[in-house]
Amino acid sequence: RKPTVAITGTSSGVGLYAAKALVKRGWHVVMGCRDLDKAARAAQSVGIPSDSYTLIHIDLGSLQSVRRFVENFRARGLSLDALLCNAAIYMPLLKEPLRSPEGYELTVTTNHLGHFLLCNLMLEDLKRSSYRDRRLVILGTVTHNPDELGGKIPPRPDLGNFEGFAAGFKDPISMIDGKKFESVKAYKDSKVCNVLTMRELHRRFHSSTDITFSSLYPGCVAETPLFRNHYPLFQKLFPLFQKYITGGYVSQELAGERVAAVVADPEYRQSGAYWSWGNRQKKNRKSFVQQVSPQARDDENAVRMWELSYKLVGLA
Ligand code: NDP
Repeated sequence: RKPTVAITGTSSGVGLYAAKALVKRGWHVVMGCRDLDKAARAAQSVGIPSDSYTLIHIDLGSLQSVRRFVENFRARGLSLDALLCNAAIYMPLLKEPLRSPEGYELTVTTNHLGHFLLCNLMLEDLKRSSYRDRRLVILGTVTHNPDELGGKIPPRPDLGNFEGFAAGFKDPISMIDGKKFESVKAYKDSKVCNVLTMRELHRRFHSSTDITFSSLYPGCVAETPLFRNHYPLFQKLFPLFQKYITGGYVSQELAGERVAAVVADPEYRQSGAYWSWGNRQKKNRKSFVQQVSPQARDDENAVRMWELSYKLVGLA
């Protein structure tokens, strides 16, 4: 049988092209999307054959919807051989926080808490799979890491001591560190949590399950709709800036190939790894395992993130 991968957010960008690249490698893709018509149109637009994917609704900004996705996945009797956590929102111009139905700040809920719950629930499905090389991959980004060139632009991510999580993460609280709402920082904080989640999954479950847990920065995919909530002028100039000034630009097609490789190719079977192709893209650039940011490699942070997120998503 074909191996099956579940991917969140395949209606555009990196997730769409990763789905395309995995189908090309012979995988069946379960597309977890919040707008199923849009996802089907997107799949068709890049030539993914309709018998190579299954659409299941998920809104990562709602924990109840995440639980329903898992129920629907199981009801179809599918085997889960790999899980790719890709969906994200980035709302740089937002001045006041948006809220999930639970009352949590929406960027961190969508990018981190929704995926944290999904990973914990679907770990059971991965364990049940008889596939020889099961993997769970979570998208990271260079902006999670202020030690890297691409991560130096303020605001920097800062989880503090998770004061906001500890206080329940509901109004008036909107940031993980309990400080004033800053939408760009919320995105970066959520990506630090994505890396911490991957590392803690690895520490807790790799040796007992043999599942590979990993994360990656596929390069600056400046033309995805991730930047659609930015100023129009930014959307125009950002790809040019990345192409001709920083050299960080990567096409959606190449980013999709890189993500698919980390999900499926034998040379990426290394658990706990964070893969990168560097900031400056040259032709045929090789990947390497990159050190993650100081906050993302702090084991105490990982445990605190895990315990507090576990409570917030209702697992404790
Ligand atoms: P896009 O905006 O193109 O894609 C995001 C996807 O997530 C879309 O399918 C979107 O669906 C989906 N999504 C958003 N919110 C939800 C939700 N609440 N429930 C379900 N699905 C949702 O962005 P990218 O492809 O650029 O980003 C994908 C990943 O890559 C992210 O994790 C991002 O952090 C990471 N990344 C991106 C980089 C870049 O330069 N672009 C660089 C490094 C990492 P919809 O179409 O309905 O909005």
